[in-house]
Amino acid sequence: MIYTSDSIEKIIDILSSLPTIGRKTARRLTFFLLRQPNGFIEQFATSLLDLKAKVKYCSTCFNYTETDPCPICSSAKRHRETICVVEEPNDVTAIEKTSEYFGLYHVLHGVLNPLDGITQNDIKLMELMERLDSVTEVILALNPSVEGEVTTQYIAKMLKPLNIKTTRIARGLPVGSDLEFADEATITRALEGRIEI
Ligand code: ZN
Repeated sequence: MIYTSDSIEKIIDILSSLPTIGRKTARRLTFFLLRQPNGFIEQFATSLLDLKAKVKYCSTCFNYTETDPCPICSSAKRHRETICVVEEPNDVTAIEKTSEYFGLYHVLHGVLNPLDGITQNDIKLMELMERLDSVTEVILALNPSVEGEVTTQYIAKMLKPLNIKTTRIARGLPVGSDLEFADEATITRALEGRIEI
């Protein structure tokens, strides 16, 4: 009979359900957690509960935030006439790390993917259209995937009649690689080299 502990197996099950964590790593992490003092475990558990309780979407840009509007949307230093459209909150972090972009963001929370049944109503597309008053440029900074491309073209088409300058970031990013994994110099080049659609 194999010795097991229900509590250990339960944590292994939970950890191995996280992205990139296999069962072997989950087991190692579980034993690491077991060796930690109670204070660490309490802080870990409370922080997880806080994360879910305090972090919400910004009602303007749909980035994660603890205050609404988020610090970027409410900053007087940001250029309000430029909106950079990204797929996920992680992409905002990646672009912010360059310290070279001073406009606002709009997080779509996904891209159009007709094969998976993800249509314009499943991402924050209408919400983008509703905040374009006094916007002069929309920068499309979606990932270089087929779905990212479809979404870029779709948004460009929607913006066309509105006479808003629509640009896309340059192809400095290798196809299939996500914005969140690109280094700051690459993202800066991609933003600077953006081209009008
Ligand atoms: Zn915001």
